Amino acid sequence: MSGKFIDRVLKKEWSDGHIQRYVGNYRSTYLAHASDLEVRRKAASGGVTSALLIHGLHSGVFDGVVVCKTVLIDGKVRARFEIATTADQVLAARGSKYVETRFLREVLPLIRLFEGRVAVVGLPCDISAIRHRCEKELALADKVVMTFALVCGHNSRTGLIDAITSRLEREAGQKIRDYRFRVGQWRGRLEAEFEDGTTISEPSKYFNDYQNLFFFCERKCMTCIDHYGYHADISVGDIWLFSLKNDPIKHSGLIVRSEGGETLYQSALDVGMIRSTNLDIRDIMDGQSRIGPAHYNVSARVRAGQLFGLKLKDTVNEPVTWHAYLNAFITIANMRLTERAWGQKLIFMTPRPLLKMGLYFKKALESLK
Ligand SMILES: Cc1cc2nc3c(=O)[nH]c(=O)nc-3n(C[C@H](O)[C@H](O)[C@H](O)COP(=O)(O)OP(=O)(O)OC[C@H]3O[C@@H](n4cnc5c(N)ncnc54)[C@H](O)[C@@H]3O)c2cc1C
Ligand code: SF4
Repeated sequence: MSGKFIDRVLKKEWSDGHIQRYVGNYRSTYLAHASDLEVRRKAASGGVTSALLIHGLHSGVFDGVVVCKTVLIDGKVRARFEIATTADQVLAARGSKYVETRFLREVLPLIRLFEGRVAVVGLPCDISAIRHRCEKELALADKVVMTFALVCGHNSRTGLIDAITSRLEREAGQKIRDYRFRVGQWRGRLEAEFEDGTTISEPSKYFNDYQNLFFFCERKCMTCIDHYGYHADISVGDIWLFSLKNDPIKHSGLIVRSEGGETLYQSALDVGMIRSTNLDIRDIMDGQSRIGPAHYNVSARVRAGQLFGLKLKDTVNEPVTWHAYLNAFITIANMRLTERAWGQKLIFMTPRPLLKMGLYFKKALESLK
């Protein structure tokens, strides 16, 4: 069956109201990738974020970029922020880090100390937080000249990556020295490098099956409705269209929201840093058709959360169907389970086929209209 046919079958109807609620304001949307294979290699999707950042640095739009790097702290994989001022530093920070960070606590002092204008990359909640700070702190607002949001389903607590890397270390009989959450085509693979130079690569589901079931999900994600990064100049996400599954080039979906974002995008295109074609916002939303609406529907999590003693605030008053409720129930139950030591043990003792069944059931609930 051709990918285009599958995309046509799976295509959803998105009204203007859906677009406004889920995506927010935007000017244009593109299917894009970094032109340079070296930039795309080890990038999370099409490497377009890194390409735009490098172009912004080289063309003087900003002097530094707040990026998020994988580091090892006491042998544990963690994510830390720094300000990159060179292309090499931007490239060293490629890839998605599916682990909790302390965004404002780390990033604000970095920006305040930095002499010059900066671009900031972050998850939608991070971008909203920095925008909010800029409203209160004018010196900060003068420095932060552009923001990039990564489309975000949710993020995971450190417990998940620690469990996964411990398992890999046991398999390798070695301590880990570097880790990449996801590289390569389509869903990609995780890569771990060990002290003796050996590597282990596993399909990304080795980590993502647990993540997609919301085990170890951060608490703040329970009240979050922002999947696409409402407040960024440019939002970038994966593009999950089956017609692109076997494409030798991995692409990103780009949502340009501001005039500054459009100018940067256009000049990167003009100098050949990125390649891009126009794309309908509905195509981007089709690729996120399960998780996008479920993410927005905090009303369902508010209702299900009551059973777990969670007091969440309903900011959207969405209708709560039985399947949205059941999905929210599983989301919160799984998150709560990993807040108990015995729960964590139980999860990692559960055979993979059972986890898979749970995952397919959850995906089926998310797919119902
Ligand atoms: C926790 C998380 C959840 C995501 N969920 C989805 C999803 O549901 N659907 C979807 O389409 N896309 C999702 N993404 C985004 C996607 O994985 C890619 O990051 C995005 O497509 C950009 O790819 P790229 O190749 O252009 O980025 P690259 O060129 O590889 O650059 C990525 C940039 O993002 C920065 N970065 C990486 N991780 C973080 C982080 N945790 N916090 C702040 N900055 C970071 C890096 O410093 C780097 O500069 C998620 C990303 C993360 C980190
Ligand atoms: S789901 Fe929302 S709160 Fe959670 S990490 Fe993503 S943007 Fe932040």
